[in-house]
Amino acid sequence: MTSDSDLAAGAGAAGDFARDEDMSFVPALLVVDMQEDFCPPNGSLAVQDGRTIAPLINDLLAKPGFVARVATLDWHPADHISFASNHPAPNNKPFVSLIEMKNPAPGKFTETKPQRLWPIHCTADSHGAALIPEVESNRVDLLVHKGQNSQVEMYSAFADAFGNHGLTGAGGSVDVDLASVLRTKAVTDVFVVGLAGDYCVKSTALDAVKAGFRSWLIEEGTKCVVPADWSKTKEELSAAGVNVIHANDAVIMRLAEV
Ligand SMILES: [Zn+2]
Repeated sequence: MTSDSDLAAGAGAAGDFARDEDMSFVPALLVVDMQEDFCPPNGSLAVQDGRTIAPLINDLLAKPGFVARVATLDWHPADHISFASNHPAPNNKPFVSLIEMKNPAPGKFTETKPQRLWPIHCTADSHGAALIPEVESNRVDLLVHKGQNSQVEMYSAFADAFGNHGLTGAGGSVDVDLASVLRTKAVTDVFVVGLAGDYCVKSTALDAVKAGFRSWLIEEGTKCVVPADWSKTKEELSAAGVNVIHANDAVIMRLAEV
């Protein structure tokens, strides 16, 4: 994302910030991919205990301090590149196989990345793509449908796997330019929860930093595909400027204020 002058690294020390009453604080909540296919018992890509975080997410959705409550939805065409079944054997094992993915942006086709393959999940308009009913979606004011370009993965709600962002940059992958919407609302701080902690939540929290927001990931508000790697993931997030916090962190108290 080096070509984007509007992106800037942002986050400061969480503890200092929580005590600084003078610093501007305009928070938004991002609820990532709380969809049937990511949840037990029937999800095709179910994250262990994924459904159990819904009560905490509902508590957050009810906080009056947020100026925006966004829910993202993984939303793929049937021929999406991440579906193992769209690739020839033998390198088409869900969770295991890696393929070489090309940057779909014009003029960037020589740029490639390894892409892990997944079971078919969150096909647009399918039952598996629906928000789970436990999440109080009536409190959500914006839905973001991501991963719609069949040629590229999109874990983050802000950008595809190559960092292409915005409605044109992401090549039809997403229906909302989330960073622009949040800037329009003067958002300074983005709180990220949802599924999965080691993929879409992580990527969204990292890209929130790159987009210039203070980024907070609430640990009890996520579950991982590979829970054993969470401490390593947290180190990576912290090193990149994401504040990984607990649900009882002092900054959460500020969300009770209008
Ligand atoms: Zn997906």
